[in-house]
Amino acid sequence: PTTIVLFRNDLRLADHPALWYAAQRGPVLPVYLRHAADSYGSAWRWWHGESLLKLQAALAQRGLPLLLRSGTAKAVLPEIVRASGADAVYWNRRYDRDGIAEDQELKSLFKELGVEARSFPGNLLVEPWEHLREGQPYRVFTPFWKAMLARHRFPQPLAEPESYRAPTAIPASEDLARWGWHPHHPDWSIGLARHWEVGEEAAWRRLRDFVDEGLAHYAEGRNLPGKPFVSRLSPYLAHGEISPRQIWWHLSRLAEEQGAWRRNVDAFLRELGWREFSWHLLYHFPDLPREPLRPEFQRFPWRQDPAALRAWTRARTGYPIIDAGMRELWESGWMHNRVRMIVASFLVKDLRIPWQEGEAWFWDTLVDADLANNSASWQWVAGCGADAAPYFRVFNPVLQAQKFDPQGDYVRRWLPQLQRLPADHIHAPWQAPAVVLEQAGIALGKEYPRPLVDHHEAREAALAAWEAIRREN
Ligand code: FAD
Repeated sequence: PTTIVLFRNDLRLADHPALWYAAQRGPVLPVYLRHAADSYGSAWRWWHGESLLKLQAALAQRGLPLLLRSGTAKAVLPEIVRASGADAVYWNRRYDRDGIAEDQELKSLFKELGVEARSFPGNLLVEPWEHLREGQPYRVFTPFWKAMLARHRFPQPLAEPESYRAPTAIPASEDLARWGWHPHHPDWSIGLARHWEVGEEAAWRRLRDFVDEGLAHYAEGRNLPGKPFVSRLSPYLAHGEISPRQIWWHLSRLAEEQGAWRRNVDAFLRELGWREFSWHLLYHFPDLPREPLRPEFQRFPWRQDPAALRAWTRARTGYPIIDAGMRELWESGWMHNRVRMIVASFLVKDLRIPWQEGEAWFWDTLVDADLANNSASWQWVAGCGADAAPYFRVFNPVLQAQKFDPQGDYVRRWLPQLQRLPADHIHAPWQAPAVVLEQAGIALGKEYPRPLVDHHEAREAALAAWEAIRREN
């Protein structure tokens, strides 16, 4: 009897529990439903489409099809079950509200049809309901992570199944090229493709390259956007081309072999812990993507300012570190974490534009768009999240840039028009003497904009708005 394996954000063959258990049982029919990608943005969808092609090719090498279908699981799966003669459907669990609701619906539907439906833990280190404090979810990261390390031994990743059996009846598949996930006119994905290799094999190459080039500098260097010291594994994790358990075990073994790496490995695994924490929050507070966790922020006097929002998205704020970050995002579908924090702080504090606007822009442009990480991080920066930076801590974009991009390498990479500005002036060109600007070939307001707002005034206004909601409490 055939087992259908439903792929979603877990586009890999190794450490895929649903696939592994299905392959032990007998023939496997891998299925992907287009509907699973409905709520995602354009950059994510481009990556996902490329990743499905890789998965399809890897499965074909093993003699298995990948059945692609449009429609909700409830609408199409019963028909696939009938046509393939399958008697079981397996999948790895999801943890967002819509995903959970759909999976529950499927379980009851298949029960009625007499088909076995089983879900497996595959995309987190620990299931969110298995890690509580006195029955309550954690709201602060450090105790969450400390207790997680103390109380849980993370399961070893599963290998890829050793062999597969193909089903005898294979229903027809749709053609991925017709799903319209690859952009045309203009094909902006050419830029993304220059920056990334997609797929499970590429994920492992990325991990190994990071171990060779970045890991030894990670603890100190992870805040320097001009340096190649972070892993850039986030898109692979977001699409499930590699699992957190695989990364955890790979690096933990390395640290055991080479004691000197321990400190950097721990610093890195702690960041993986933030991913775990974000999913913990999303599971326990399913409104996280829309509603502030701190209810007083419902009354925050946000501003509607479409022109300023546009300047932010188009990298025309006049603050080089912000504009470089927004260009990196636009061109590569990714942005360094330190710069994500700086641009997000600028949007919600200097411009006082609702964090949901920034969240939505990131959602559409990030190849690593991840519902939990994106919403938890935006709430964190906005000061309305669980374990949030207090609202009164406002990042100064110039000081941040001087500290974390001291030579201006990062800004020059993404804003070539500022190429010739010396490091002393690159983060605040409006303060540079006229002669310096002239020598660098920059006329402010032409080659590069003047600052959209004065940071010191904007900061005062943000603090006053925050004081107002605090007083009302
Ligand atoms: P590394 O430093 O190499 O870390 C390894 C892994 O740990 C990452 O791949 C990621 O899975 C996890 N991680 C690292 N930092 C964080 C963090 N602060 N929160 C949660 N997990 C983390 N990350 C996403 O994956 N998707 C998003 O949509 C997303 N949106 C964000 C929005 C804002 C406003 C901010 C401030 C951060 C956001 N992050 C998001 C978190 C973080 O910026 C990225 O995970 C990180 O930059 C990815 O790069 P990396 O893989 O090189 O990270």
